[in-house]
Amino acid sequence: MTTLFSDKNIVPVTELEQSAFCQTEGNLRTKTLEEEFNSGVRWQKIPTRYLKLTPEEIDEGIKFARAEIGSKALILGHHYQRDDVFKYSDVSGDSYKLSKIASENNDAKWIIFCGVHFMAETADILTSADQNIILPNLAAGCSMADMAKFVDVRNSWSQIENVLGGKSSIIPITYMNSSADIKSLCGENGGIVCTSSNALKAYEWAFEKSEKILFLPDQHLGRNTAKAFGIKDSEIVVWDPYRKNGGLSSVEIINSKVILWKGHCSVHTRFSVQQINHVRKNNPNTKIIVHPECTNEVVEAADINGSTELILDTVIKSPAGSSWAIGTEINMVNRLAKDNPDKDIFCLDSVVCPCATMYRIHPAYLLWVLEGIMAGVAINRIKVDDHKKYNANIALERMLALGGYRA
Ligand code: SF4
Repeated sequence: MTTLFSDKNIVPVTELEQSAFCQTEGNLRTKTLEEEFNSGVRWQKIPTRYLKLTPEEIDEGIKFARAEIGSKALILGHHYQRDDVFKYSDVSGDSYKLSKIASENNDAKWIIFCGVHFMAETADILTSADQNIILPNLAAGCSMADMAKFVDVRNSWSQIENVLGGKSSIIPITYMNSSADIKSLCGENGGIVCTSSNALKAYEWAFEKSEKILFLPDQHLGRNTAKAFGIKDSEIVVWDPYRKNGGLSSVEIINSKVILWKGHCSVHTRFSVQQINHVRKNNPNTKIIVHPECTNEVVEAADINGSTELILDTVIKSPAGSSWAIGTEINMVNRLAKDNPDKDIFCLDSVVCPCATMYRIHPAYLLWVLEGIMAGVAINRIKVDDHKKYNANIALERMLALGGYRA
């Protein structure tokens, strides 16, 4: 018997590993890969000679390889990467900025994406067939993206269409943090991709054409955007892929304006209203700025919310002496604090907890793929199949046409 759903409510391994590198001391010093493996994480296998290399030996190897390869390679670094990898980025940015840069680059034969799997897939969709997109560690996924399995999304989409039965129109919007299959499903069904920097524009775009939205896979970004768009709580429902009809009645589906997929980011849902209250009590002059992947209670209790680029821009441009508690990934917060010593910048959460999937790009993996390129071998090439690519590209081009956050 075929089942309409994936078998069980399986918690992605990316989510289970999220706490592996959480600590209270704030020291995210890179260790040898062998030592990092000791925390029990399950990362991609790598030739044993990389396991014992010290950070200094790895640095030397990367510098040598980078100089040898030159402009044939472009290294893209997401802001959530650890410093020991981020420092090798030719270009840094959030997922919108990096995908735009990938789409505009026709020269680099090798694009090494120091980020996570869905970002490398997106870069492959947006670049030409003779460019090789490399993800240094194939285990670098995203726990949120893993919460929306294609089989579940496809079946859920059919169920929603059946319930609506032509009674109202619906457009799928998927957050960038989703697999190429899901982007393709959106492209094929009149939908669009968005990032946190243009989610509101995507809502405007969709509601010009349709009465209803299915938003995948982050319920929090979806809800925060819906509320910013003026949609009432009573018109927002959550679709649980592990329950029949998403756990919703036909009436609830028909009466809703926004159906949110039940996914979340394990990093941004750590932030709480209690943490905000604590900062307000102890640091009354501190402004609180958070990412919209945080829960709606946190977003509403904060002073400002916005995309990674908005957070960076706002804090960097604030006057000397200003104080900021930031609700986003710790590597980015620490880097902002280091680069802006004239300001008081700290993370809203006192536990230092990096994004465990971004953290999987250990510098030894970067060295491994660079040495592969020197030998003419594309280690960990990410390739999306042509059919998926075609439809996903439609949804991505619609997003790029909307633009992103502008400073
Ligand atoms: S911060 Fe959250 S959404 Fe971003 S890559 Fe990590 S788990 Fe995924």
